[in-house]
Amino acid sequence: MSAAPRTDSSNRCHDNGARRIADHRYRILFERSPNAVALLDLDARVIRVNQAFCRLFNYTEAACVGRRMADLIVPEHLKAESRSIFARAQRGDGLQVETQRLRSGGTAVEVCILATPIDLETGQPALHVIYQDISDRRATDARLRRVAFHDALTGLPNRKSFYDRLENCLRNANRRKSDRTWALMFLDLDKFKRVNDTLGHDMGDRLLKAVAKRIKRCLRGSDHLFRLGGDEFTVIVTDLNRAIDVARVAAKLIDAVARPFRINGHEILTAASIGISVCPADGWDAASLVKNADMAMYAAKSAGGGAYRFFTEEMNRKAQQRLKMEISLRRALDREELVLYYQSLVNDARRIVGMEALLRWRHPEMGLLLPADFIRITEETGMIVSIGQWVLQQACTQARCWHAMGFPELFVAVNLSARQLVEPDFEQMVSNVLKKSGLPPERLKLEVSESSVIQNPDVCITKMKRMREIGIAFAIDDFGAGYASLSYLKRFPVDTLKIDRSFIADAMNSRGDREIIKTIIAMARNLNIATVAEGVETVAQHDFLSSHGCDRMQGFLFAHPVPVDQFNQLLERQRSAAPSAPPA
Ligand code: C2E
Ligand code: CA
Ligand code: CA
Repeated sequence: MSAAPRTDSSNRCHDNGARRIADHRYRILFERSPNAVALLDLDARVIRVNQAFCRLFNYTEAACVGRRMADLIVPEHLKAESRSIFARAQRGDGLQVETQRLRSGGTAVEVCILATPIDLETGQPALHVIYQDISDRRATDARLRRVAFHDALTGLPNRKSFYDRLENCLRNANRRKSDRTWALMFLDLDKFKRVNDTLGHDMGDRLLKAVAKRIKRCLRGSDHLFRLGGDEFTVIVTDLNRAIDVARVAAKLIDAVARPFRINGHEILTAASIGISVCPADGWDAASLVKNADMAMYAAKSAGGGAYRFFTEEMNRKAQQRLKMEISLRRALDREELVLYYQSLVNDARRIVGMEALLRWRHPEMGLLLPADFIRITEETGMIVSIGQWVLQQACTQARCWHAMGFPELFVAVNLSARQLVEPDFEQMVSNVLKKSGLPPERLKLEVSESSVIQNPDVCITKMKRMREIGIAFAIDDFGAGYASLSYLKRFPVDTLKIDRSFIADAMNSRGDREIIKTIIAMARNLNIATVAEGVETVAQHDFLSSHGCDRMQGFLFAHPVPVDQFNQLLERQRSAAPSAPPA
């Protein structure tokens, strides 16, 4: 019995001794470990770090001790990750993760983190964290991945990447059911074999590289180019409004490849044949999309090459039609087939205060065409720049005419495309037109859509501000149809918002649309911006808008867009209906 306490105390002695030795060994291991090691308390504060840690992360020990690990090396987005490490540690679990940490200079280092919860000599729980530098292994992995998924000659993604991406696109299309479509192009060089045979394989390789580079330059960031092997390339073109739009891309690629290549002093001429299948119209799975694009490509080749073909005849017809339209549109300006119609804008008392110029095309065979039929083509081909200039010139001259006829207070509104505003000499062009026509800048209002200014906000804001200084006003067209919020638009120097037609059309049977209209009017008023309602067709719409303080309106209720002579009549009618001036 009497031996018991002695045994106890000698045990404690023995325990303490063993503990000291263990602690001593731990310290030595800690200090000499070739791996970076940190000892942290459970608040993630540094208790101790070793020399390897200081070397790896470029800190002195003094800079670390007592600081939170997150302040030291963890950037904002890694905070959550270290929280999970500590959550596990508090439960007594260890953890191994591969991630990145930052050095004191800010460069990232790839590390494998091994965190083990331990008890300190004081009995306090702590976390022993080893950081293994795995940068080399990661670099090797990346290199191997590159080799597996890329083509060594051109550096483009290879066949395997192509099928991966294709499956991925199909999955997305199935899931999202979005109204965007995408297309698959097979591109093959015509008579490539002849280059190889006559000039040698080295020249063939160089040509392929040069072709890849040119194709790449024609594509947008969201398109994907692959080399399947030989002279076979594929392109996945995503995010198309309409399937037919891929025809433009194909035409661009064909033009690019057809320009002569200069390689080693040789001029090499080649051409591309392209086959196109569109999703989902031409197939819901990779195999049929590929097969159909391939068939279309052979059809293009057998028709002589240097051309593109869609898989379906209907698409080929559409593409043909578009091409014809493009060609006749190029001549339309010279042949004086373009005309402007004018639609009045009225105030609350229904008096004409201005007019919007609306473009029409008197097509020799198809009759009078609306902008919906042809504006896109003018934008995509860049023709809008010269056509837009013509529209502005025409509208300003006409407005000046109406001023001279005794309506000097009228303003004219002219629509702008995104493309025009970003033209480097746009401001110069507008001020030339104003000078030439004699129209005071205060009587010109330029209408831009939300989407067009938001693509390039900074450029647009600067230009708009400068033009506003000379008196030109800007209106945001189709407001509400896009994504812009009023608070964002506050940055733009606009003085009018045109509420999109769709809200007005539904106003009488949708409470939600009525609320939106009321909100737009109220918020615009707070920002000192006038509102115009477009597409007002009924008295009920007019009364609703008027009672909520909409400043101006435009729509069939007041007048349709009409040619100049008919607009003259509208103005004359207004003059004769005007209350006569009081006798002097
Ligand atoms: P927008 O700027 O929204 O022009 C108003 C459109 O609404 C016109 O169609 C007009 O005819 C139509 N509209 C007017 N009142 C009513 C109505 O009460 N009900 C209905 N349902 N519609 C009404 P339009 O003339 O076909 O023009 C369509 C679009 O084409 C214009 O939309 C504008 O974005 C563009 N556009 C027209 N002319 C030009 C131009 O010279 N240059 C550029 N870049 N775009 C133009
Ligand atoms: Ca407009
Ligand atoms: Ca509009």
